[in-house]
Amino acid sequence: MKPLTIAIDGHSSTGKSTLAKQLAKALGYVYVDSGAMYRAVALNALRNGWVSKEDGVQASKINAHLETLVIDFELDQMGTNTTLLNGEVVEEEIRSMRVSNVVSHVAKLVPVRRHLVSLQQAMGENGGVVMDGRDIGTVVFPNAELKIFMTASDEVRASRRKAELDAKGQVHFIEDVLENLMSRDKADMERVDSPLIAAEDALTLDNSSMTREEQFHRVLGWVAALQK
Ligand code: C5P
Repeated sequence: MKPLTIAIDGHSSTGKSTLAKQLAKALGYVYVDSGAMYRAVALNALRNGWVSKEDGVQASKINAHLETLVIDFELDQMGTNTTLLNGEVVEEEIRSMRVSNVVSHVAKLVPVRRHLVSLQQAMGENGGVVMDGRDIGTVVFPNAELKIFMTASDEVRASRRKAELDAKGQVHFIEDVLENLMSRDKADMERVDSPLIAAEDALTLDNSSMTREEQFHRVLGWVAALQK
């Protein structure tokens, strides 16, 4: 049976990567976290002083250095997906609020999107891939066999994200976490190039009151229906 391409898009902190990883593991597919790639570009820009929450982005600098960045993924000893930037493990640093606060400004830049989209398309060219992000079903893989659009209430999303940050020892007020989610969603939905929007043929999944297992089994049912 031909391996599928599964595109998962949706609002911030709706559990896209959790679901994507579960599916990739169960199906023996490759998992690609496209958000980690935007976060890696944003981290590089922060380190070089090309972006800040206060002063915004220096687009020309970021765009000019895109080709020099090597972004890839490897599995660590625990089998967990780890992001590398020019060979350095940046998995934890790219998830910090410092990066979250600027990533959507960097993700608005058209050359950044063109560059990362072409890398993502190459990663999934043979199918057998689960990719999560904001434009996967609309731009990266418009022909994906299964497209899922995930959402959840603001309160549920903020408390999930806060729990994740707490677990890493990064303690923030829930109000600041919520503010970051809302402002990223707004920037992602309002940008001109490939805004966050559900593809017309996406199946919507609101998991505000679903367990991970319930959600996973529902989606496995969708996959099974496609494989018949
Ligand atoms: O998925 P994650 O929350 O880690 O993504 C971080 C940010 O990267 C998003 O808020 C969005 O600005 C950007 N992004 C994007 N397109 C994607 C994936 C992420 O613009 N496909």
